[in-house]
Amino acid sequence: MKITMTAIKADVGSIGGHTRPSDRMMKEVGKVIEERGISSGLLIDRYLGYTGDDIHILMTHTRGVGNESVHKLAFDAFMQGTETAKAEGMYGAGQDLLKTAFSGNVRGMGPAVAEMEIEERPAEAVALITADKTEPGAFNHPFYRLFCDPGANTGLLLNPSLTRGVEFIIMDVETGKTASLRTPEEIFVIAAALMYPGRYVIESIRTRDGQPIVSATTDRLHNIAGTYVGKDDPAALIRMQKDFPATEEACAMFKYCHFVAGNTRGSHHMPLMPVKRNTSASANYCIPIVSVSLFSIKDGKLGQSVDAFETSDWDYFRRLAVEKSEMMRAQGFIHPATLIPDELEYNKGYKNVMSQLEAKLRKE
Ligand SMILES: [Mg+2]
Repeated sequence: MKITMTAIKADVGSIGGHTRPSDRMMKEVGKVIEERGISSGLLIDRYLGYTGDDIHILMTHTRGVGNESVHKLAFDAFMQGTETAKAEGMYGAGQDLLKTAFSGNVRGMGPAVAEMEIEERPAEAVALITADKTEPGAFNHPFYRLFCDPGANTGLLLNPSLTRGVEFIIMDVETGKTASLRTPEEIFVIAAALMYPGRYVIESIRTRDGQPIVSATTDRLHNIAGTYVGKDDPAALIRMQKDFPATEEACAMFKYCHFVAGNTRGSHHMPLMPVKRNTSASANYCIPIVSVSLFSIKDGKLGQSVDAFETSDWDYFRRLAVEKSEMMRAQGFIHPATLIPDELEYNKGYKNVMSQLEAKLRKE
């Protein structure tokens, strides 16, 4: 059976700053999906959750990628979430909705999309990865290690499908252009690109014979290519088991709590902390967070899901993230605690201060 998984996420407002959406917002967004998606038969199933201030909606259906009705449903749900957020005085109500009138496809309208059409396997294991207070390049490190580094993932040596290699689609966020690069032969080209997550990000990954494995949210960057759009909290879908990475291989790539761009004012580098589902953003300088929901899909039904980071071993990695973040914060405002000037460019305060310096610069 061919099914489509569509994950759409947006920040449409949160409580007391950039923390988490309110229960009422979640309820109202869910109601739109329920009434117009499930009852109408448009969708087979849905899962709704939040990571920090971002609401994510995972939908399954048979209408293919980029389907207007499915995208409009999610957009309308986020519009309803915005109305509720405004009524409750939420901070940043509707901030990710760049437009208010839907036109064919949610791409370019603010919400971010990760979707793939698949031939459902008898046991279709899938993870929805959602992060907050960071950017799409936050997935460069975990996906590189998962698909390119046997030192991190022995599965590359034990699973013949992974040993054959995969195809990365990598996007240059400054131009919106994408490149197809294959492992193992182009591994150093892939590494060189992924070295700078602010410039090159992973759009998707598939097997060498074209089976989709990973789809990540890069579309907002695509559509506004040419102008730097700053941070856009990412989400990704990844298929696991059999020809693909094992669930524990994929999830373990987040235990390193690698440094990513984002957090407070989208202007710093901090470690990416694995958290349980439906966790508020950290009020400690907004340590970037990531959560993972695991599903077994049958005939498009999502069924019961599992929180990948709920077990006690992840408390150890959460502690590691806090220790790393404290080390970085001890650095104060000095780079690399803060981002490079180009990425601070959209920060008006910094520009204003620097203009005072520039006015005083003289050649001796
Ligand atoms: Mg966010």
